[in-house]
Amino acid sequence: MPIRILDPAVAAQIAAGEVVERPASAVKELVENSLDAGATRVTVEVQGGGLDVIRVADDGEGIPALDMALAFERHATSKIVQASDLHGIATLGFRGEALPSIAAVARVSLTSRVRDAQQGAAIRLRWGVVEAQGPAGCPSGTVVTVEGLFENVPARRKFLRSATAETSRVRHLVEQFALAFPHVRFQLLQDGRESFRTQGDGSLLTALAQVYGAEVVEHLLEVRGDQQEGGRTWGYVSAPQYHRANRGAINFYLNRRWVQSRLLLQAVDESYRGFLMEGRHPLAALHLEVPPEEVDINVHPTKREVRFRHEGPVFTLVLRAVRETLVARSPVPVVTPEVASFSALPQQVPAGFPPAGDAAPPGLRTDRREQKEGSGGSLIPRAQVQGLRVLGQASGTYIVAEGPGGVYLIDQHAAHERVLFEEVGARASQRHPDAQGLLAPVTVELEPSQVETLDTWKELLAQYGFEGEPFGGRTYLLRSVPASRKDTSPQALLTVALDMLSRARGPSEAGDSLAASIACHRAVRAGDPLTQDEMAALVRRLEQAAAPHSCPHGRPTAVHLSDSRLEREFGRR
Ligand code: ADP
Ligand code: MG
Repeated sequence: MPIRILDPAVAAQIAAGEVVERPASAVKELVENSLDAGATRVTVEVQGGGLDVIRVADDGEGIPALDMALAFERHATSKIVQASDLHGIATLGFRGEALPSIAAVARVSLTSRVRDAQQGAAIRLRWGVVEAQGPAGCPSGTVVTVEGLFENVPARRKFLRSATAETSRVRHLVEQFALAFPHVRFQLLQDGRESFRTQGDGSLLTALAQVYGAEVVEHLLEVRGDQQEGGRTWGYVSAPQYHRANRGAINFYLNRRWVQSRLLLQAVDESYRGFLMEGRHPLAALHLEVPPEEVDINVHPTKREVRFRHEGPVFTLVLRAVRETLVARSPVPVVTPEVASFSALPQQVPAGFPPAGDAAPPGLRTDRREQKEGSGGSLIPRAQVQGLRVLGQASGTYIVAEGPGGVYLIDQHAAHERVLFEEVGARASQRHPDAQGLLAPVTVELEPSQVETLDTWKELLAQYGFEGEPFGGRTYLLRSVPASRKDTSPQALLTVALDMLSRARGPSEAGDSLAASIACHRAVRAGDPLTQDEMAALVRRLEQAAAPHSCPHGRPTAVHLSDSRLEREFGRR
């Protein structure tokens, strides 16, 4: 076939496909325009899943009558002027492609009035061609109506799922806008019926209640991160007792833009380590305020994926803020006083330690104290906890064992952490860490404070299995890391280790916190199925530990149900 320049209408359809993939993408572009125009109320209406009608009405600044046709020209935008503006974009739109793209594949009409103009104007287009234009009486703000989407591109229409599926995408999208802009009042009408609305009172918590229901809100903890070098994060995350089967309710808003980012998801996952069972996920709505020049949102036409110039600082920003919230605010679990603990420790857990989780503590004073003071309270004599016989696993989390003194419930994660903590420490002092060389070295972007921490503790880090070298600027080339579970990335290991080291007040605390962090990343988790042999082996190792009663964070490793207690409970005595 000879080479030809495409007919402009065909070229426009192809370009439109990049921006307007489905009804929800048209809704997204239109709502973004409303928000960019400073709207405080946005009403979205869809009929037939958005394929029949999409209407977005706002009370924003409006479009001057003279600019109206121009708005539908490709690359027509009022938001940026020159290429350098691309590095600091503060608006949601900037490509000047949405209106022409939508217009290329539908029938569109737009009416608008600038706030203090006498009169408004209207324009009507069909498949990219202006059909009518003129003055119109209308309230201030803008209304865009899109009808018959993809009517002229039947192939595209075929790819779409049912109207119901498209409607639910639109609903999800409007919910995300509501969480990103709590001060804007949103209303969604589906086939003539209101299905969602927000108050727009400025509170993210109110918006969350409207999206997820009032019951969920009771479980939310406020995250109020400090201004850090990389930016600031704020929002809400669920307390550990509330969790979900997938990551679908972990939402991020980067400078008010709803974004998807593996990095941010990893940071949240990492924050909940030890707080949630494997395979369970929190709910989160986190806003990130990062200097616009630090992010590249121009990666993809729909702007959903982001790239950060410095990943390390952003990761740490989120990790630290969420982790600190969880550690500080997790509700204290109810401890039944009658069940004697394996040790006297639960009463001694120092303030600030997470009672329910395995959060990285600021220091590890308990261990040494416990070794000295271990004889106090209701500590069970060591002889009684030798030769335990494993009966099975309960809740995929506790090893049930029997010994001379009664029945023991052993927390598999806490127990494994204790055993590994001691082993990691011992191997480090022999300079023989259990490390894994990385097949390909991994680069990690660090923030200046992390570079400093790394410098201070370089020797110690090597002793524990972290090997690497500076790689120019703030980049660090990681060649080997301590052995850990497969799902832990080397970057996460190093970042968490540095975070813990930055709080250490001396070399011995630093060593302990490194060992604790490594143990936590290597240990089996709550919810991991274990075989009888694995459980027996773990219990044997725990029996031999120097301080078997608690995990490195001060939580008990086991609780004890004594024979006499059982007899009492069953009325045998
Ligand atoms: P972009 O948003 O990338 O600038 P669009 O094609 O989405 O490109 O819109 C083109 C221009 O039309 C915008 O720059 C803006 O000036 C104007 N515009 C579009 N929608 C609205 C609206 N709802 N309110 C006010 N102005 C609007
Ligand atoms: Mg736009």
